[in-house]
Amino acid sequence: MKSLRSQISFNTVTSIAVISSLIIGLSIYVYEKLYVEFVSAEVNAIGENIAVDLIDYMGEPAGSFYQTEVLLRLGEYDYAETAYILDNDGNVLNVYIGPAGLNKEKNLAASSIEGQNSVPSDVSVSKAQSPLSTIDPSITSLALGLHQIKNKVVVVKTIGESTFPLGRFILIFNLQDALKDSRKRYIALVTPSVAFLIVLALLISVRAQRKVLHPLNTLINTMDSVVKDQNYDVKVEEIDREETLSLSRAFNNMMSNIKAQSEANAEKNALLQKQQSQMEKLANFDALTGLPNRQFLMHLLARDLAKACINKSELGLLFVDIDGFKSINDSFGHDVGDKFLIHISTAMMSVIDKDYTLGRLGGDEFIVIVPNVPSKQVLEDIADRVVGAVSRTHVFDTFRFDSSASVGLALASECDYELSHLITNADVAMYKAKDEGKARYIWFNEAMLAQTQRKVLISTRLSHALETDAFYLCYQAKVDANENVIGFEVLLRWRDDVLGVVSPAEFIPVAEQTEKVSLISMWVIQRVGIEAPHLIEAFGQHIIISINLSPMDLNSNKLTQFIISEMDTDKLPSKNLEFEITETAYMNNFNVANSFFSVIKKHGCQLALDDFGTGYSSLSYLTKFDIDTLKIDRSFVNDIGKSRQSELITKTIIEMAKSLNFSVCAEGVETQEQASFLKYNGCHALQGYLYSKPVPLENILARSLTEQ
Ligand code: C2E
Ligand code: CA
Ligand code: CA
Repeated sequence: MKSLRSQISFNTVTSIAVISSLIIGLSIYVYEKLYVEFVSAEVNAIGENIAVDLIDYMGEPAGSFYQTEVLLRLGEYDYAETAYILDNDGNVLNVYIGPAGLNKEKNLAASSIEGQNSVPSDVSVSKAQSPLSTIDPSITSLALGLHQIKNKVVVVKTIGESTFPLGRFILIFNLQDALKDSRKRYIALVTPSVAFLIVLALLISVRAQRKVLHPLNTLINTMDSVVKDQNYDVKVEEIDREETLSLSRAFNNMMSNIKAQSEANAEKNALLQKQQSQMEKLANFDALTGLPNRQFLMHLLARDLAKACINKSELGLLFVDIDGFKSINDSFGHDVGDKFLIHISTAMMSVIDKDYTLGRLGGDEFIVIVPNVPSKQVLEDIADRVVGAVSRTHVFDTFRFDSSASVGLALASECDYELSHLITNADVAMYKAKDEGKARYIWFNEAMLAQTQRKVLISTRLSHALETDAFYLCYQAKVDANENVIGFEVLLRWRDDVLGVVSPAEFIPVAEQTEKVSLISMWVIQRVGIEAPHLIEAFGQHIIISINLSPMDLNSNKLTQFIISEMDTDKLPSKNLEFEITETAYMNNFNVANSFFSVIKKHGCQLALDDFGTGYSSLSYLTKFDIDTLKIDRSFVNDIGKSRQSELITKTIIEMAKSLNFSVCAEGVETQEQASFLKYNGCHALQGYLYSKPVPLENILARSLTEQ
């Protein structure tokens, strides 16, 4: 690429060359003009002198010695070409041919007739012998004075007084040769000086260029260093010359802008990095507890499993679920639920080694990843500590909650280090821990998987059952102390094409877990609406028909509305209805249950606390709501006659119920002994196989017909 410097140098040299040529040309022109003037004046003077000197010899014959002598004085003038002495009649008396004229004559002679004599000397004076001696008539006709004809100066002078002329003298001077030689000399003289001046001008121009381009070069070098070092804190000296000053200022301004821009960029970058790490935190960590979230946990677990698989080391997984969290959330609201989760996370963190990862899968589910497990015992110790940290009374803000954790344990080697398999195994074990009474840990085994698979099958078949009406109702009679039928408990039955008859004890918990229970309850209520009138008709207006509700039903607004609308439209005989809810469900959903109860009560229905004695009811709670009946759990009834303690509890429940004005019903009465004990202690109602198993409506109606 052409440099600016070479371009400037080229321009400078070209300019100097053009200007020099013009100057030389002009000076030659002026010089020649002056030279011609000078020569003309000289020729005039010579002509004048010779014309005067010839006066004395005009009387002489043509070609006289004296005339010739005078003419020969022209020999000292190199460019005097020809001179003629003419008499008054225009006859040539004498001719002078100078060196310039001779050269011309030689040239002419060479081209003229052969054998003609050439003049031997430098000059010659003769009387019209040579071709030049014959005068051109155009010359003889010239007026007196100085004439310039082509490249010649011709002077015509009168010899003698102008009033008495003796003849004329004509001198022809060859200006061309004179000029040529003079020009040569001039050029020879001027060229070295001009060459010297050009070189000098060039040197000065190079120096000037350097000086002028110095700020530019400094700028270029500075820019290069900025690009290389990325240091935007540089400035160049501001040189006091208009263009470079503005250039330097522009550069310095640009650098200040770049610096400001780069500082702003650095700030933005820092902000972006901060935001990115915040985003990463948000993306990877649970906003509530600050623990790794599900996505990040899966990433960590996949990484640790890959490592364990390569190293053939063991990896353990704890699946932790907080027992009863849902009821805290439902009863006290999500804010309290959130605080409780933070509290529980902190409690668990405090007992887990920092080499292990505790994270929140979602809701109240957590996992602990334990890489490099040396023995099962180590995992059990961790599980023990986690269960211990959660299973106690937690006090925060103004709240006190009794809580517990169910933990499932699984090992990576038992599922081929497969991530989803490992989580499923730990999850299944956790459910087992819940089934077995909560607040404990349980190791995964293959049998659990079969149970889980059955649960999954039940769950899918339940949807099918709802669509195909595969359910039906059975009724189990309740009798008073005189063994008169006072009511029936509605018990749901399901006969499935694939699974056969499935007990509600098995499918209701699955329906609860898969949130299908309210749909089932709706089906039951609708069915009771159809069948209850037959029972009332057969057994009288006084009978009470008890419907079981699951804790989840209490939370379902849709179901509550459905029950109300069924009662309002008289599809349900509200005065003959009782709803049974387990004592534990009631205590765990105290507020929700009470608001449901108040709606139900307004419609004249009764309420019973089922499985009473298995939960941990506080007596003060029992006085807070208008419950009608306590149903003593079958386990106590079953132990009558076998366990003094159970008998004592049964007796106490009956007495307490009486003093609180509750009615008492004993369920699972199978023997006369149990019945006698219960009746003796004042139990109001009895229910059990001793009186009737749960049977379909047709059977009851048929039996009542035969009894009548
Ligand atoms: P539950 O409410 O405690 O019902 C009493 C259970 O004890 C019934 O079992 C009944 O058949 C059984 N039973 C009654 N008398 C005796 C007896 O003398 N000896 C023995 N061994 N058992 C007796 P079932 O019908 O299998 O129901 C089990 C549980 O399923 C019920 O316990 C109840 O919690 C639930 N359930 C049944 N039907 C429904 C329903 O329609 N909705 C809801 N949510 N749960 C239901
Ligand atoms: Ca019941
Ligand atoms: Ca019961």
